Amino acid sequence: MTDRKDELAANLAKVEQRIAAACAAAGRARDEVTLIVVTKTYPASDVRILAELGVRHVAENKDQDAAPKAAECSDLPLTWHFVGQLQTNKVRSVVGYADLVQSVDRSKLVTALSKEAVKAEREVGCLIQVALDAGASERGERGGVAPGGIGELAGLVARAPGLRLDGLMTVAPLTGEYAGREQAAFERLMDLSTDLRRDHPAANMVSAGMSADLEQAVAAGATHVRVGTAVLGVRPRLG
Ligand SMILES: *Cc1c(COP(=O)(O)O)cnc(C)c1O
Repeated sequence: MTDRKDELAANLAKVEQRIAAACAAAGRARDEVTLIVVTKTYPASDVRILAELGVRHVAENKDQDAAPKAAECSDLPLTWHFVGQLQTNKVRSVVGYADLVQSVDRSKLVTALSKEAVKAEREVGCLIQVALDAGASERGERGGVAPGGIGELAGLVARAPGLRLDGLMTVAPLTGEYAGREQAAFERLMDLSTDLRRDHPAANMVSAGMSADLEQAVAAGATHVRVGTAVLGVRPRLG
């Protein structure tokens, strides 16, 4: 194996151990939690190695980096998640490679995603990004809709041609009542998911937890964790 492959294999093994331990501690089966490796800022060669090591879900947050990387890796058996703030002028490109968009947070984005998904004859899975630090009807600092806006947005996605409502996503807030209380934040997301599933039973994905707080997310009931630095290393630049 190459040095990089050894390094990624060792990191993946550690993350796998953490997820398995968190599942055991929570009395959950290991297969209830899916690992998504966030490959942003890292090259396509790393994505290829991860695929060789058995990773099946990857995530990106910037279209200009993700589009060429996904094109280079189109032969790999990967599911691509888009997790970044998304401008409507990037939607056509993103729909070209993303199987899921986890950062759906406004109606304009739903309209644009639906239009491009239909045009591309693709079905795009959508998670509503929830901002737990937003005021009643605002959007969060890092994207996301306030909890009060989930129902309306979910209804829009569920009725939109080319889109599939898959669930909810959040990032632990740095400000507001949940700052420094990751597990409480993720438990709140689980409650919101329970509410959502009353109207949309199939929308059962709960995407929460990153390198620093995946244990808290698994304890709260997350179905998907998004892990970047713990697998790939500290990012060379902000992303
Ligand atoms: C970068 C990123 C992650 C991964 O964060 P790490 O701390 O590197 O594990 C997860 N989710 C989103 C939305 C991200 O932008």
